[in-house]
Formats: sequence, structure tokens, C-alpha cells
Amino acid sequence: MTFDTFRLRRKSVFRYPMDPAPRTAVLAACFRQPRLRPNYPVKVFPQGWSQEVSAFAPAAIAAPREQLLGLAAAEQPPVFTHSVIALESPGDPMLSAAERQQLWRAFRVPVFEQIIGRDGELLAAECEAHDGLHIEIPGLPWEGYRVETAPCGCGRKTPRLTPAEPAERARSAAGYAR
Ligand SMILES: [Zn+2]
Repeated sequence: MTFDTFRLRRKSVFRYPMDPAPRTAVLAACFRQPRLRPNYPVKVFPQGWSQEVSAFAPAAIAAPREQLLGLAAAEQPPVFTHSVIALESPGDPMLSAAERQQLWRAFRVPVFEQIIGRDGELLAAECEAHDGLHIEIPGLPWEGYRVETAPCGCGRKTPRLTPAEPAERARSAAGYAR
């Protein structure tokens, strides 16, 4: 294996949507465990939710959508104080309004969505404006998504992926209003 191949296959570190990251449990095997440091308290649990994760007492959780919805459906969903982050693969449908509602009702914290490559690289990420997923890697095919090029409320001007159906977005935004 050449050095380049090795580099391409190296896993990436999970990126929290904002700085600083709170204590975050990442339930996905595609990420590399970053060196544990006080200003980035992010821990990868490749096996998914467990007593160990619970004992870690995360303020935020990042996991594939199915796992998040599973936790949300529990009789007593775990308590997070900061956020839940749904991890998806390229081509997956974006979170539906109903799924966002489900996550909001169970956890009562902001929901973020990220599209992640096979080795954990961040391809697109929802920001604190919650108005689509900023494309983080140029030149990738984005069939199946709608691309929004108007500047985002967060101040960034990079294009964003949004659900194909605008009505879906309106309902999704309404889900946040309290
Ligand atoms: Zn933004």
C-alpha cells in the first residue's frame, strides 16, 4: 500500500457543528477517535449506544438517523443538553419534517444533520441557522438534493443542500417554533 492510499483511507475526526464542542458521544465506526483533550471532549463509540455511553454522560450525541430515532422511541429517552446530530451517507434522503419532530419531542434540543463519507469525512453540514446543509467538499455529485445558493443566515455563502420539496422545509422550521 502506498503512502497516498494510506492517506486516502485514513479516517477523519467528527466535526461538531459549532465551537466549542460540548461533551459529545459519536456512535459511528467510520470516525477516528481524536486525542482526548479538554477543549474537544468528543468520544467515538463504534458499537452504538451502551451503558458505557450513558456513563460518559454526553451533552450531545451524533449517530445514524436510525439509532437516534430508536433512542427517541425509548420509554425514557436519554437526556442531552446541547444537540442531537443525525449522520447520513451521500444519497440518503434528508431528515423529514416528521423525523425532526420525533427527535425534537424526545430530546428538546436542536437537531443537526450531517452527510458523512465512508471514512468519516464531512461532506455537508447543517449550521446553527438550520436552513440546509452547507456543502463542505466541492465537486461531489449531489443528485437527489436541491441546492440553495442564497447566502445563509449564519453568514456563510457556500451552497447548501435542502430537501427537494420546499413545503417540507416550512413544516420542518415550524417544528422548531415553540
Ligand atoms: Zn449556514
